Amino acid sequence: MTEFTTLFEDDLRSINQTLERKTIQEILDWTFSVFPRVALLTSGQKAGSVLAKILFQAGKQMDLVFADTGVLFPETLETMEKICRTYSFSLKRYAPQLTMSEQTQKYGVLYLDRAGQEHCCHMRKVEPLFGIHSDYEVLLGPLRRGEGGRRSRVPIISLDATFKVARINPIAMISNERYQKYLEEPDTIINPLHAQGYPTIGCTRCTTPVRGDEPQRAGRWRHLAGVDYCGINPSDFARKKVSIDLPTAVVQRLHNSLAKLEEDTHDHS
Ligand code: SF4
Repeated sequence: MTEFTTLFEDDLRSINQTLERKTIQEILDWTFSVFPRVALLTSGQKAGSVLAKILFQAGKQMDLVFADTGVLFPETLETMEKICRTYSFSLKRYAPQLTMSEQTQKYGVLYLDRAGQEHCCHMRKVEPLFGIHSDYEVLLGPLRRGEGGRRSRVPIISLDATFKVARINPIAMISNERYQKYLEEPDTIINPLHAQGYPTIGCTRCTTPVRGDEPQRAGRWRHLAGVDYCGINPSDFARKKVSIDLPTAVVQRLHNSLAKLEEDTHDHS
């Protein structure tokens, strides 16, 4: 039987400080040396495409996982399928208990007001991932500090008490210029909706295109005032210090890796 040890967010402080001085490749090599079960969590948007390409170029293979709300754009699903075909990743979908029409029959159209939207996002985006910790210890994500707002301080590694996994954002520190270069490379697989006026993309019900003079996220929950994020990324919200239980062998490897990580650190600034 697997033994578990509690990992506290404070335990990550030194590791985060050291990772701040690492290249993306070094962050990825460290991640895969410490965590045996790693997945890429994406919603089929361009930042996820850039990270998927970086992972492929770094020689990493893994599952690409997503919460399939049942009302994603077909272009989003096709983009994720194409990424998996091209990079030999495996696509793994986590679905809500109810289809959208079953949910509507039971609760009505939820996403029309703020409380209903929170309920809907919880059932369709958050709950499906509750069991993900039995499949993976860490989820890679494409959050970047260059996005600004709440994401301007996103840590490289953090703990996710909701899904009981570690979250790593390997491209948190990528410069906007370098990120843009990846987007402009012709072989980067990008959701075609981005070229049709959708800077960010979620469910069909709650996403619209934006005008050139609007903020990038203006098309998300346009019908609701004050909703910016859905709750799937804990670092988007103010939160308390958290802890999670991980297999003891993983926690030990993580602690033991720090000395080597510091030893190998070069200044990449
Ligand atoms: S984005 Fe809209 S449709 Fe999608 S889960 Fe949230 S409230 Fe429901």
